[in-house]
Amino acid sequence: MDSASVEQELAEPYLRAVLDTAGLAVEYVRAEGNTLHRRDEDGGLLPVVDFAGGYGSVLLGHNRPEIVRCAQELLAADTPVHAQFSRHPYANRLAGELNRIIRRELDTTEPYFAIFANTGAEAVEAAIKHAEMDRGMRLAVVLDEVAAHVEQTREALAAGTATLDHATFARPGLTAPAPGEDGFEALSAQIRARMEEHRAAPPLFLALEGGFHGKLGASVQLTHNHGYRLPFKGLGAQARFVPRDQPEALKAIHAEERRILLDTVVVNGRVEIVEREVPVFCAFLLEPIQGEGGIHVLSAEFAAEIQRFCAEIDCPVVIDEIQSGMGRTGALLASSHLGLRGDYYTLAKTLGGGIAKSSVMLVRQARYRQEFEIVHSSTFAKDSFSCHIALKVLELLEEDGGRAYHQAVERGDALRTMLESVRADFPDVVKEVRGKGLMLGMEFHDRSASPSPVIKSAADSGLFGYFLAGHLLHRHHVRTFPTASAVNTLRFEPSLLVTDAEIAQLERGLRDVCGILQEHAGDRLCPA
Ligand code: PMP
Repeated sequence: MDSASVEQELAEPYLRAVLDTAGLAVEYVRAEGNTLHRRDEDGGLLPVVDFAGGYGSVLLGHNRPEIVRCAQELLAADTPVHAQFSRHPYANRLAGELNRIIRRELDTTEPYFAIFANTGAEAVEAAIKHAEMDRGMRLAVVLDEVAAHVEQTREALAAGTATLDHATFARPGLTAPAPGEDGFEALSAQIRARMEEHRAAPPLFLALEGGFHGKLGASVQLTHNHGYRLPFKGLGAQARFVPRDQPEALKAIHAEERRILLDTVVVNGRVEIVEREVPVFCAFLLEPIQGEGGIHVLSAEFAAEIQRFCAEIDCPVVIDEIQSGMGRTGALLASSHLGLRGDYYTLAKTLGGGIAKSSVMLVRQARYRQEFEIVHSSTFAKDSFSCHIALKVLELLEEDGGRAYHQAVERGDALRTMLESVRADFPDVVKEVRGKGLMLGMEFHDRSASPSPVIKSAADSGLFGYFLAGHLLHRHHVRTFPTASAVNTLRFEPSLLVTDAEIAQLERGLRDVCGILQEHAGDRLCPA
């Protein structure tokens, strides 16, 4: 390797440069508990309190000793990590343990089958694919039934037990036979043409405005953020985005998008046309607490409306708990607080304990299609290493009567109380504090009218929260980030080990930032 290739930066250099504009492209060299360490100018370790929490993946802390030990033991024991297409009792135990907890939280006995994957977006992709396979199979049943009915009608006409009159064609969407054309042939040709149209039509997904479900080819179509989604629009089935807390929008979208198939029946010796609903809506994806959209908690009322609507139109509900789940809000499933019941769930992030890369997609038995297991897989999914780590994570969440869940709630309350006190003291700067448990956000008012050129330009850059994060990092040794699609909101998702002293350190930082914004003192904002 020549020195030029060593020097040249090839691993996403542009992103590094963008982070640099806000002073965030620092290197971390050590991590434990709720702390990351970077090097100071003299080469010593400089601790940084981590409120970004691995974007939600280290609820139990960085390098949690029990998880590290588990990993070390697995490797020391020469555990076969990659043994695809064999029995995976550990994956089965993990699915069983997830089911045991879900049964408790949802008060249900219906099992959920597990498809393992590696990342959050991959679990979402698996859910999308499964839902589309299921929709295709449901559509095939409807189409087969219609084809059979048309055949029965043909036979009844041939046997003289039914008649077809001109009035049958007097409905929108049907064309009467041309003079001399056989009436039934004209009718069945039109029905068949519609069937083929519906067979070929792409599925439609429903998702919430502000929602974030990943950045892969299919999952990005359900991520509301235009910047992430639009360049890849051609890659996948599209979604209709539903505004939050507007149940009437659900009905309007259904009315616009529903598709109808025509079917024939013989009633009192006359051929009649009936309408059949085509399964168009593949799945409704939602986060019980929107993470990247700015930490918005779904209201129980809207959740109930969505549940009712989806039951009515037979559209499966996919609850994306990738960020909100795994104990962060005091339960494995944040949606269980809302009384929401998913046909599918996706979990990731803390499932890997901050060490493994792991995710899972769960499907309730009533919707499950075992055929999916034959057509979907990944080299790396369901491996023994990540399954054992995930089992250890669940053990740590569940031990001592679920102490970790209580800790997430208690620490979340302490953090929230502090954030609220800052908001109360700076109402012109802080718009709102939102969230639940250890998934909290602080939204700042727009500063694009600030008389300070530094603050105005930060606000106009589309990176506002990143500049605040840079200041917090360099002046206060606190790490946080804005949410990906709402950059005026800072996220706080520390591990449940976060201490009162660390919360106080964040408070000093936030009060400093609020003071700077309130006084339009851009010159005090840490230069990147
Ligand atoms: N869904 C949600 C709710 C998420 O928050 C994220 C990641 N922020 C994803 C999906 C995608 O997960 P990953 O980055 O592991 O692909």
